Amino acid sequence: MMMTGKTQNLGVMGWPVAHSLSPVLQQAAIAAAGLDYAYIALPVRPEDLPAAVAGLRALQFRGWNVTIPHKQAIMAELDEIDEAARAIGAVNTVVNDDGRLKGYNTDCTGCIMGLTAQGFDVRGKRAVLLGGGGAARAIIYGLLTHSAAQVTVGARNAAKIAPLATDFAAYGTVVTMDWQSANFTQALGDADLLINATPLGMVPHVDAMPPVDWAQVKQDAFVYDIIYTPAETLFLRTAREHGHRTLNGELMLAGQGAAALRLWTGVEPDLAVMQQALHQALAGAGV
Ligand code: NAP
Repeated sequence: MMMTGKTQNLGVMGWPVAHSLSPVLQQAAIAAAGLDYAYIALPVRPEDLPAAVAGLRALQFRGWNVTIPHKQAIMAELDEIDEAARAIGAVNTVVNDDGRLKGYNTDCTGCIMGLTAQGFDVRGKRAVLLGGGGAARAIIYGLLTHSAAQVTVGARNAAKIAPLATDFAAYGTVVTMDWQSANFTQALGDADLLINATPLGMVPHVDAMPPVDWAQVKQDAFVYDIIYTPAETLFLRTAREHGHRTLNGELMLAGQGAAALRLWTGVEPDLAVMQQALHQALAGAGV
């Protein structure tokens, strides 16, 4: 669609931002839905964040995505923070309603959209998460608010992830442990869903993967890696070779974008269009 004086503005704020796939994702969905919006990359140095937010408010941007390194720092610049973003402790989407800025987190929605699109219903399921960083927090929130029975988080440093249990206690049961412990091996045996939320296996370190005793994992357990470069990590390949259903991180990325576009426009975007645009962009980048 041609841009006119009425076209509303959107973008993604990060530093650096040139690598962001959001412009490709969002423009594909905007074009497919025939929406009158423009979506651009917004390079913002950390020290310029308050000025950039004031500028986007002054320019009446309808909203924007927020990526590294601003996901936490932006919270202080907003008028309101949605419950999910508050619980997760990070904002990846801002909506501007007549100058009032509200922060959301759609990574948690994206994670669940990925599973749902594969026909996996998290209700009543036991999940085991490898890694307890920022992405894990969004996944924990998404799983518990979609009625997962329990989330066990394993990581190399159990003390560091221990606060997750209390941080999410209002939403359900989170158990944290050292991923080398006997307890973790037992948790693996109970898991219906196993998720890698570490960067282990991501380009260029494609030979790495988190420690999993595959002999313990139930045959019908669903295995999910939120990494999308490469499309099949060593972790996912190993899971597939053990006969598990698998899913990579493309749908989570497309899903967080779809949820953001829905917040800005009120229109339900075509997730498949977004995933395809993403897939093509990744293939074009040779990853
Ligand atoms: P993060 O906050 O840095 O957390 C990473 C987690 O992995 C931490 O628990 C960390 O443990 C652990 N970890 C990192 N390096 C490790 C190593 N060498 N050995 C063992 N454990 C290690 O990162 P994040 O933001 O959560 O992102 C994690 C991954 O998810 C990244 O690959 C990112 O690209 C991907 N992601 C994908 C999507 C999507 O839409 N598909 C969205 C967000 C993130 P320590 O604290 O001990 O270092």
